[in-house]
This record gives sequence, structure tokens and C-alpha cells, in this order.
Amino acid sequence: MTFDARAARVARSERVRARMRETGVEALLLSLGADLPWLSGYEAMPLERLTMLVLPADGEATMVVPRLEAPRVPEDADLFRLRPWEETEDPVAVVAGLVGSRTRLAVSDRAWSAHLLALQAELPRARWSAASSVTSELRAVKDPAEVAALRAAARAADRVAAQLQAGDLPLVGRTEAEVSRELGDRLKAEGHSRVNFAIVGSGPNSASPHHEPGPRVIGEGEVVVCDFGGVLAIDDGPGYCSDITRTVVTGDPSAEVSELYAVLHEAQSRGVGAAVVGRPCSSVDAAARSVIDAAGLGEWFIHRTGHGIGLEEHEDPYLVEGNDAPLAAGHAFSVEPGIYLAGRFGARLEDIVVATASGPEALNVADHHLAVVG
Ligand code: ZN
Ligand code: ZN
Ligand code: ZN
Repeated sequence: MTFDARAARVARSERVRARMRETGVEALLLSLGADLPWLSGYEAMPLERLTMLVLPADGEATMVVPRLEAPRVPEDADLFRLRPWEETEDPVAVVAGLVGSRTRLAVSDRAWSAHLLALQAELPRARWSAASSVTSELRAVKDPAEVAALRAAARAADRVAAQLQAGDLPLVGRTEAEVSRELGDRLKAEGHSRVNFAIVGSGPNSASPHHEPGPRVIGEGEVVVCDFGGVLAIDDGPGYCSDITRTVVTGDPSAEVSELYAVLHEAQSRGVGAAVVGRPCSSVDAAARSVIDAAGLGEWFIHRTGHGIGLEEHEDPYLVEGNDAPLAAGHAFSVEPGIYLAGRFGARLEDIVVATASGPEALNVADHHLAVVG
């Protein structure tokens, strides 16, 4: 682990402890989910054997981990001490012992209920809350190392988008599923360690925002929405996510397609421009939506404008009407309006954007225009 990543984790755990004291949480219990790698650099395996970081507001943190997985944990005495448990031990009792007399506990949102139920039986006086009540707002604000990781992931996705837009990745005559697989393979060729999704919606399927790519063969003169992303591995810790959407057309677009796309392009760029520190998250949604509304297409924009992104593909902050929390420098999120004419065709345009003191920075720089491809 480099010094920077280590220092960032130590700073995060200090912010977490300060927030725990503010909210009255006495111990944070982290197992599955992104909070644990964010704080420790270690991602627990999703297995029945319990891995749990016990982080008290007032004392030393301890990572309780199965003996056989202990060698994978990056040790750092400033962050936690390691407590490997043997196959014959009860890890729930080990965690309960570390919790001691503390009763205000927050547990990973993604912890398995089997583990939580066992802990509740062992700690009957405890009052439980979700770890996100402590971590979510903190994790939403990315430090410079995290922004750099998100930028690297975005640029890798951009290179795949550019190949798609250049017609380098043939569409006509192939099934959506084949194209989806190839988008995923290309993300990996550009350094991703994992592909989270590769949506390919062609023709009428382009009007279904979360279309599952299937056996439909892509024809000529069709709109194709491609939305893909994954995790770009970095040297010294868990990787950060990419998520990009580009819409292309296989042959010259009709006037209707061109006009709809022009509205979408304008809406997306207004949304990005509205991502100004201090303004409410909802204002990004409102900026994009007002363009689509003004064009008379508002009823076809059927989802929020964006979601936060980091170690998880969807996390705080959400850019949606009603979320009036202010944008902060370091917030990273998608801006992805879409217009979907049910049963006919649709389009979406998505970039990852970071709010900074000097204005919004789009991490994706792949071309925004409707590319005509083969
Ligand atoms: Zn997406
Ligand atoms: Zn997205
Ligand atoms: Zn543009």
C-alpha cells in the first residue's frame, strides 16, 4: 500500500469516528459492502464465515476474519488490529466480546441477516442502526485519490465508447447479447477487472432503460442505446466504478430521431452545467428535465437524472426531485437523462461528473453527438 492510500484511510476513519460521536453511535460493525474496503482496503468475501471490522468510536478497531482469509488482509496497525478466528471458534461471540458494554451499534447495510440475527441474540440490549447513517455522506465526498481512480475508470470506458462510435465494433447483423459481451470484453481490455453491466437496447428495445440484452438481431437504421460500466482495478486497494451511456444509430437517422437526440444532448449538458457546489442535488435533475419538458417530451423521461458513484455503482448522492441536500466539492455522480418513446425508440446520454470548487468536471469525454455507425 502506498503512503497516500494509507493516509487517506486513516483520515477517513478519523472522519468516521467524529461522525459516530456526533450521532451517538458507539461501535460500527462492518462486513459485506463498500464501507469496509473504503476504510480498510479489504473487501470481505461473501461467504458464510463472518468477516467483521469492529470500530468503536472511542478505541482501537479490530478486524475479525476467518484464519484462512487473514493472509489477504492488508495489515495496518494504525487502522486496525487483526483477530483471525479458528474454524472451531464462534466469530459472533468474538465480535460480541469486542463490542463489550456498548449498546448503540451500526451495522453494514449489506450484512447478511444470518449474521445480524446471531449478533442480536448475543447482544440483546443493543440498539441497531444502518452503517450508512454514519458512512454514506462521508463516502459521497471523494478525496483526490478517489477522484483520480474514478477518472481513470471513466477514461477507460471512454475508449470503449470511442470504439463504438467509430464503428469499430460492428452492430448490424449481430445480436444485442453478442454486442453486450464484446463491450464487456473491451472494458476488460482497457483495464477493468470486472464488468458490472453492458446494456444494449436496439430498435424498440432502446425505449426500455434497463433492457436486458437478448437475441434480437440489430438491423439497419436503428437506434442503439449502449450503457456499460464496471470496476477498474487500482494497485493498492479496491477499484472504482465506471458507468457511461452512448446512443448510436445504424444508418442515417430520421428527422424525429435527430430532433429527439438534440433535445437530449441539450438536457444533458444543462444538467452537467447545473452541478455547482452549494446548489441542491435536485437542481441538476430540474435543469435537465426542464429542457425535455419544454420540448413536450417530459412524460417520456421516466427516471431520476443521476446517482452517486464510487466503490459502488449506485450510491449517494441521488440527483432526484426532493433531494435538496447541497452539492459538495468531491461529490461524484452520473448525469444521465433519457427520453423513451415506449415501443418505438429511445435515447440516453450519460457522463460521470465531479462537483469541484471551480465548477463541474465531466470525467467522461467521449463524444456526445449521435454517432452514425455500421
Ligand atoms: Zn449507466
Ligand atoms: Zn448510471
Ligand atoms: Zn456535447
